Amino acid sequence: MATKTRLPNVVIIGSGIIGLYSAYYLKQKGHKVTIIERTDGADGCSYGNAGMIVPSHFIPLAVPGMIEKGIRWMFNSESPFYVKPRLNWDLISWGLKFYKAANPKQVEQAMPALRDISLLAKKLYQDFAKEETNDFSFEERGLMMLCKTEHNFDEEAEVAETANKLGIEARVLDVATLHQVEPEVKPDVAGAVYYPGDAHLYPNALVKKLKDLLLKQGVEFLYNTEVADFEVENSRIKSIRTQSGERVAVEELIIATGSWSPILAKQLNINLPLQAGKGYSITLEQRDGKKLNIPSILLEARVAITPMADNLIRFGGTMEIGGINQDINMNRVRGIIKAVPEFFPDYPIEVPRQEKVWSGLRPCSPDGLPYIGRTRKYKNLIIASGHAMMGLSLAPGTGKLVQEIVDDEKTSIDISLYKPERYD
Ligand SMILES: Cc1cc2nc3c(=O)[nH]c(=O)nc-3n(C[C@H](O)[C@H](O)[C@H](O)COP(=O)(O)OP(=O)(O)OC[C@H]3O[C@@H](n4cnc5c(N)ncnc54)[C@H](O)[C@@H]3O)c2cc1C
Repeated sequence: MATKTRLPNVVIIGSGIIGLYSAYYLKQKGHKVTIIERTDGADGCSYGNAGMIVPSHFIPLAVPGMIEKGIRWMFNSESPFYVKPRLNWDLISWGLKFYKAANPKQVEQAMPALRDISLLAKKLYQDFAKEETNDFSFEERGLMMLCKTEHNFDEEAEVAETANKLGIEARVLDVATLHQVEPEVKPDVAGAVYYPGDAHLYPNALVKKLKDLLLKQGVEFLYNTEVADFEVENSRIKSIRTQSGERVAVEELIIATGSWSPILAKQLNINLPLQAGKGYSITLEQRDGKKLNIPSILLEARVAITPMADNLIRFGGTMEIGGINQDINMNRVRGIIKAVPEFFPDYPIEVPRQEKVWSGLRPCSPDGLPYIGRTRKYKNLIIASGHAMMGLSLAPGTGKLVQEIVDDEKTSIDISLYKPERYD
């Protein structure tokens, strides 16, 4: 008689979108799953983000010219990018790795890798919306990259050409065509590139839906439980000790702790270069008679605008590399708000009160690629982190890959560039 092998129990640290989607696919295969979360799970980076699903973002952040641009931006208090100067070795080392990664050869390598995980994730979102009811406003209306200057429009048109070569449809739109696409709020720009394959959703609803679904399926959530350290034996993590002294037994462990991942990795002697990139968002009601219909990115200002469920509209932006803190810098918020009427003159918005501003920490790897895979140091440890500005977009893809790695299945895509110990 054939004996059925028992599937290993899986512990996931972190209940952000990456932890939740990992749990979803593991649970589908029949694993017992426990999620440990340091907070009450009611907020975090996976809630207030811009909700964009972006196969269009196949170019990593570390590209030639980015450092020079970043240095110029650092002297403007309302700019979209800022590195807080600190004498901190992790930051310096991350910056050097970013600089090294920003070369044409590495970008060439990264592009198909990002495309593949993006397309995998997008397909899984389509399936998820069909199979689990689309009550999180998943919509496939594409994304517009709006360019204020001719120079940037020309550059984006070149990116569009590369996108088409990579199999990601991109259409270069002149202003007249653009006004037909967004008739109520005519953008005042040089032109736009439209990516019809992008999508968007309401992240707050998605995270809540996933939690409810997983709870119903028997996933155990240990909220307000922070991991303190690990018990290791023969290159295996045997158990986790929580801050309150409880022990949680481990058969397979997934670290999906976003911007906090290097802290846990360090405890396990793994070098996981990662910096938190703080961003802000403001969510408002759409204006009567002036509705924005298609998500857009205001290229020069790096502001993302997403129409969301219940007649809402979300404005998101800035990337502040300034350590782990949720402080709100109203100058940068003003930078986001000021950019909107520059692109949409008929859509002025007011600077909100500070309490109305949401902030989140994007987990940024230096080369712009996530960390996904089993570690060499520990036989039962998988890291799923470093998704930077694309965590929501890539989450189902990463979750599926995590399940395939746990189950020793052939992965849906090549994950060799995502090795978590690539800097070790
Ligand atoms: C303004 C803004 C706009 C964005 N827009 C988009 C977008 O349009 N599309 C997109 O794809 N992405 C977007 N992002 C990025 C996206 O939000 C992130 O990449 C994603 O949320 C990261 O998910 P995560 O699960 O890795 O991390 P998180 O959501 O941060 O989750 C990690 C969890 O781990 C927990 N944790 C940490 N340490 C411990 C510990 N020791 N013990 C227990 N628990 C622990 C934390 O409390 C946290 O809940 C945006 C981000 C920002 C800030």
